[in-house]
Amino acid sequence: MDADWVARFADEVIAEAERRAPGKPIVCASGLSPSGPIHLGNLREVMTPHLVADEIRRRGYDCVHVLSWDDFDRYRKVPVGVDPTWAEHIGKPLTSVPAPPGSEHPNWAEHFKAPMAAALADLGVEFHGISQTQMYTSGAYREQVLLAMRERKRIDAILDQYRTKAKPKAQAQAVDADEAAALEGSGAAGEDDGSGAGGYYPYKPYCSVCDRDVTTVTAYDDATTELTYTCACGHTETVLLSEHTRGKLVWKVDWPMRWAYEGVVFEPSGVDHSSPGSSFVVGGQIVREVFGAEQPIGPMYAFVGISGMAKMSSSKGGVPTPADALSIMEPALLRWLYARRRPNQSFKVSFDQEIQRMYDEWDTLTRKVADGTALPADQSAHRRATTTASLTLPDTPRRLPYRTLASVVDITTGHEEQTLRILREFDHEIAGLDELRPRLDKAQHWVSTYVPADERTQVREEPDAELLASLGDVERESLRLLAEGLDEHWSLDGLTTLLYGVPKVQAGLDMSAKAATPELKAAQRAFFVLLYRLLVGRDTGPRLPTLLLAVGRDRVRRLLAG
Ligand SMILES: [Zn+2]
Repeated sequence: MDADWVARFADEVIAEAERRAPGKPIVCASGLSPSGPIHLGNLREVMTPHLVADEIRRRGYDCVHVLSWDDFDRYRKVPVGVDPTWAEHIGKPLTSVPAPPGSEHPNWAEHFKAPMAAALADLGVEFHGISQTQMYTSGAYREQVLLAMRERKRIDAILDQYRTKAKPKAQAQAVDADEAAALEGSGAAGEDDGSGAGGYYPYKPYCSVCDRDVTTVTAYDDATTELTYTCACGHTETVLLSEHTRGKLVWKVDWPMRWAYEGVVFEPSGVDHSSPGSSFVVGGQIVREVFGAEQPIGPMYAFVGISGMAKMSSSKGGVPTPADALSIMEPALLRWLYARRRPNQSFKVSFDQEIQRMYDEWDTLTRKVADGTALPADQSAHRRATTTASLTLPDTPRRLPYRTLASVVDITTGHEEQTLRILREFDHEIAGLDELRPRLDKAQHWVSTYVPADERTQVREEPDAELLASLGDVERESLRLLAEGLDEHWSLDGLTTLLYGVPKVQAGLDMSAKAATPELKAAQRAFFVLLYRLLVGRDTGPRLPTLLLAVGRDRVRRLLAG
C-alpha cells in the first residue's frame, strides 16, 4: 500500500467525499488566470490536485478535476513586450481584450490558455476546464449571485473581521500586488473586496458602455433585484440582477461560491495560510455561513523556483512557462519533480547545468525501480510520474544519460550522422537516432537555448601553435603517449583508462595500476587541463572521453601534434 503524500491526501479526500456527498463523483479543483503567460510557477496549482485526483481514479472512484479558467477577471496591466495601446483595455474581462498582435486566438484569455492546455495534455493531466466567462454570462451562477447580494451584510461583517487583521502584515511585507495575487490564487489580483462609500456590494458589473469594471454599485433592491451602478466613464444604469449577466462576484466571495457550486472537496492554494485575511480562510467562513457548504481540504503549497533563467531572461522575455520546461525535459521527469515533493516543500526546476544531475537522479531511480531496490515512496513517485490511471507517459525507448546526449550534441552542434556515430560508442546497439528521442531532442534544445554561449563547447579548428610550442618535455611526452594509445583505446572505457593512465605511465606505473596519490591526481588534473586547452581552448569542457570520441581520432591527433 502506498504511503506517500498523494496517497494520504487521497485517503482523506475519499473519506470526506463519502461523508459529504456519498455516491457522487469526487471533485478536485484548480484555478488559473490567463491574464498573461501562465508561468511554470503556477503549475503546482494544477499538479497537486491532478496527482490526488489521479490516485483517487486509480482506486476506482469517479473523480473530476475541475480547472477554472478565471477568464472573466479584469485585465490588469499590459505585459512587457505588448503594444502599450493595450492599456485602453485595462478593466475589461480578459475574454473581451483582443489577443496580442499576430495571435491566432480570438481574445487575450484564449491566447494564454491554449499553450497551458497543450502543456497539460503533454503532461497527461486530465481536467474539466470551466470558463468563468461562460459560467457568468450564461447565468449559471444566477441563484448564487442573488444569494450573495441578499446576504451582503453578513458577508461584509465576515470580511470585516479580517480586514483589520490583514492590514499590518500586508503593509509590512509590501510585496508587489500582482505577485501577492499570483501566490494567493488566480482572481485575487488587484481586486477590492466589494466595499465602498455607498455600502457593501459583493457583485461588480462590467459597464455596458465601456465594458470595464471601474463601476460602483450605488443601490440595490432585494425585492425587485434592481441594481444601479455608475461607471468612471460617466455611464449610469439600472439593471435587473435577476437578468444581468455582465458582472461577477468579487474574488473573496466568488471562490467560496464555486466551492459550493461545484462541490469541491480538494483544492490547494499557494497562499500563506498563517495570514489571517487570506482568501482561503475568509472563504471558509463565507462558504459555511452564506452558501451552506463546506470548505475543501486545501493544503498550502510552497513556491516552486526556477534556476538558470537569469542569464536567459533578457533574450527569452522573462519567466518560463510549462511549455518551456517541456522543451528541455520529458513529461515524466517534470511530473516526477512534483510527485516526489510534498506540497509544502519548495523545490526548483532547473534550466541550468543542474538539469543534468536531475536526470541522473531520475535514471538511477528508474534502474532501482526496475531491479526492485527502490524505497516504497520513491516507487510511488516513479509510478505517478510515468503513468496515470488512464495512460502511460511517452518514454524514450533507449535511454542514454542526458548529460551524454547534451555534451555530444553540444560538440556536434546537432549534426545527425556525427551524433549517431559518437553515440554508438556509448551503446553499440543503437539502430538510429529515433530510439533516443524524445530525450535527445530535449537535450539538444537545452544546449541550443539555455546553455550560455560561454559554456558551449567550440572545438578548435586549428592547433594552438603557440601553446604547443611552449610545452615542456613532460607535457610533450604525455601528448605523444595519448596519441599513440588512441587506436587501441578508442571506446569510452578505453579512453577513460588511457586518459587516467598516461600520467601513471609517466610516473613509472602501469597504465591500469590502482593508484591515487596526491601527486598523481595533480598530474592527471594538469594533463586534462592541457587537453581541454588544446582541443576547445578552455580549461574545462565535457567529459574528455566523450569529447575525444566526438572530435574524432584524426582531428585529435592533429590538434595535439600541431
Ligand atoms: Zn463605463
